[in-house]
Amino acid sequence: MIVLEQLNRIFKVGDEQVHGLRQVDLTIGKGEYVAIMGPSGSGKSTLLNMIGLLDRPDSGNYFFENEDMTRLSDHQQAEFRRHKIGFIFQFFHLVPRMSCAENVELPLMLAGVERKERKERVARVVKAFGLEQRANHRPDQLSGGQRQRVAIARATIMNPHILLADEPTGNLDRNSGMEVIEILEQLNRDGITLIMVTHDPELGERAARRIHMVDGRIVSDTALK
Ligand code: ADP
Ligand code: MG
Repeated sequence: MIVLEQLNRIFKVGDEQVHGLRQVDLTIGKGEYVAIMGPSGSGKSTLLNMIGLLDRPDSGNYFFENEDMTRLSDHQQAEFRRHKIGFIFQFFHLVPRMSCAENVELPLMLAGVERKERKERVARVVKAFGLEQRANHRPDQLSGGQRQRVAIARATIMNPHILLADEPTGNLDRNSGMEVIEILEQLNRDGITLIMVTHDPELGERAARRIHMVDGRIVSDTALK
């Protein structure tokens, strides 16, 4: 489903070059549950951003469902991302002035889904995520765990093929974190491909496949069987 070949990303900081990714080769199949681990600064977010089309490599190939992503224009990438990819961040990235329901509705608006269908789909998802009582609340009126549930609802309302989560529990207490992980794992069991960055070994253990990064390289890739 995802094929990365010899991917490099070099950031220029003043006169210096920082290697975000070095010669990364990676293949991920449909429905996999992958944890990306490694120390801070090892390139985990850079890799996830590449897969999520939030950033472009300086060299190398990226195929998503056999389509060459590096050939797409920014506009085409945005369109592709909107329909195929869900992204969840450590700090939620919700729109502060919008209610919970409006945040969840946003991708449907951007995709031009008509109002009646939008409202129906949002109501269904808000209910499924246990957020009915909070639908009209703004993010600052919600707990961290509730915010992350809104973010997951927003990330999945377009039925993406892949869900990318960058330290999704990094800003949550343990209980809310486990709740979020269980939601993500249920979505994975329902068929979505799940790639999660974490530096929590206990969470990493739960994934069916663990990728370890050091200094922009993949240094190990182990699948549990
Ligand atoms: P991780 O998520 O594993 O902590 P990152 O992928 O964020 O690591 O960063 C990998 C390396 O690339 C680090 O050295 C970081 O400082 C650098 N880096 C990441 N993004 C940028 C950027 N936009 N500009 C400059 N350097 C960056
Ligand atoms: Mg990171």
